[in-house]
Amino acid sequence: MDVYLDHNATSPLLPQVAAAMEAVARETFANPSSLYPAGQRAREIFEDARARLAATVGARAQEVIFTSGATEAINQAIIATSLCRGGGHIVTTGVEHAAVRRCVDWLGAAGYRTSYVRCQRTGRVDPSAIAAALADDTVLVAVQAANNELGTVQPIAEIAEMVHARGALLLVDAVQALGKLPLDFVTSGADLMSLSAHKVGGPKGVGALLRRWDLELPALLHGGGQEFGWRSGTENVSGAVGFAVAAEVATARRATVVKRWEALRGELLALTELLPDCRVNGHGTETLANTLSIAFRGVNARELTVALGRRGVAVSAGSACCAGRPSEVLQAIGLDEPAIRGTIRFSMGPDISAHELRAVREIVVETVTELRTAAPEA
Ligand code: PLP
Repeated sequence: MDVYLDHNATSPLLPQVAAAMEAVARETFANPSSLYPAGQRAREIFEDARARLAATVGARAQEVIFTSGATEAINQAIIATSLCRGGGHIVTTGVEHAAVRRCVDWLGAAGYRTSYVRCQRTGRVDPSAIAAALADDTVLVAVQAANNELGTVQPIAEIAEMVHARGALLLVDAVQALGKLPLDFVTSGADLMSLSAHKVGGPKGVGALLRRWDLELPALLHGGGQEFGWRSGTENVSGAVGFAVAAEVATARRATVVKRWEALRGELLALTELLPDCRVNGHGTETLANTLSIAFRGVNARELTVALGRRGVAVSAGSACCAGRPSEVLQAIGLDEPAIRGTIRFSMGPDISAHELRAVREIVVETVTELRTAAPEA
């Protein structure tokens, strides 16, 4: 049996997304900027996708800017804000996705003042720690809605209040929240928000930056002036349609799917009773229901991931984009070295069953026991 438990890394394309994208790709090749009927039809389809995506995430259509993914959305938001506000101070946290941390590191190396707020052991950021990091020249605070490795959910509303009280802007990386948590851009307190299609059954290489409609920020991609002048380049019409359909499906079934995850989570949590020396990382309650990070002391998570993969179970050690390096997120929450080395992440998809999870549990118990026996010093 093959069981895919790496949905936080990416998810399979939904059949209805594939069908919608194929229809557009076959029938709508014209450039949406062209004035003849085929071009105007492409424009209509593209703008319809924008409106549909906006409606699923509680944004206005003019607040959605399609991008090549969340990494681009995040980089554009951070760099544009820093540029337009005269090189002020940027605040983020130690548990952000690499797209945020590496971009802030880069600005730091270029002379911008940056602060990385420490998190609690659960991965949660204390809003008062954000407040303490804010200064008169802080222009931007970047905090994720939920962590991709731990599942920990952040107190965005409280953070937003503190950020705005000091006149700064808030970027919320909501990639892992879409389809897993209620998401409403307008009431979230975020000024900017990043989203990605491929985490919810949409195409890879498609994402969006939500930007509060009244926010003036400079464009970073110059050219034909598409996307309200913010992001030039011929629009990815089929990608936008795929994202809109995926977001609609994920949002419509969220409540049902979350209930399923909550009911089935225990099947994996039982690992901590069946095996000695393993512990759950993250927060007990403020967490994505589909995500479970477990430290198996005495094993090497890379070896465990490979061994599980051979037995048909797909999980990851840390996040997919940092494969091979010790997880900076696990370091940031203060785990010790053996726990970091032995941590793997299970992330369930919408169709997971109890039967599959029980089979996975048995395979994990067997594999961890074998690896510990083979290399007791690991
Ligand atoms: N932010 C988070 C929390 C993620 O999990 C990811 C996915 O890897 C990203 C950002 C980057 O998204 P994308 O792959 O669309 O660039």
